[in-house]
Amino acid sequence: MSSRETWRDEGASGCGSLDGVAARADGSGLMAKGFQENQERVARLAGLGKDLARRARSKCELCEAAGVSLKIYEVPPVPAEPDFDRCLMLCGDCHAAAENPRRFEPGERWRCLAQTIWSEVPAAQVMALRLLRRQAATQPWAREALEEAYVDPEIEAWAEKGE
Ligand SMILES: [Zn+2]
Repeated sequence: MSSRETWRDEGASGCGSLDGVAARADGSGLMAKGFQENQERVARLAGLGKDLARRARSKCELCEAAGVSLKIYEVPPVPAEPDFDRCLMLCGDCHAAAENPRRFEPGERWRCLAQTIWSEVPAAQVMALRLLRRQAATQPWAREALEEAYVDPEIEAWAEKGE
């Protein structure tokens, strides 16, 4: 097993240093302030990357793809402050599927979710639940996985809140 980290610090690149962030209460204007707050949030989110990659053991937390570049995904509803427990490290395919429900294509390739629904990571369970439900109508194996899974009421509530 390689110890090389596959996660790349994409979120923080190009946002420069955070020097002077605190001293700008005067005259920067609301737009600039909003932009700056967003940049700070992006930086804080990126700051979680290292610990997230460790939790994920550098594998996608939905499909377990290894040796691919992983990206932080915030499981909706997204809180005001980035929250470690509400983030997942996902491969490109899973990230796209999670972000674009309308472009999600059900199919056999998502059978991995039948395992993920048993994950120790609540955020991963939530996404597995959502993605399984999106294809339960057309995929018998997804229906079966949903019937077999035991999901805590909190996970259930979270999964419904963000859809
Ligand atoms: Zn994946």
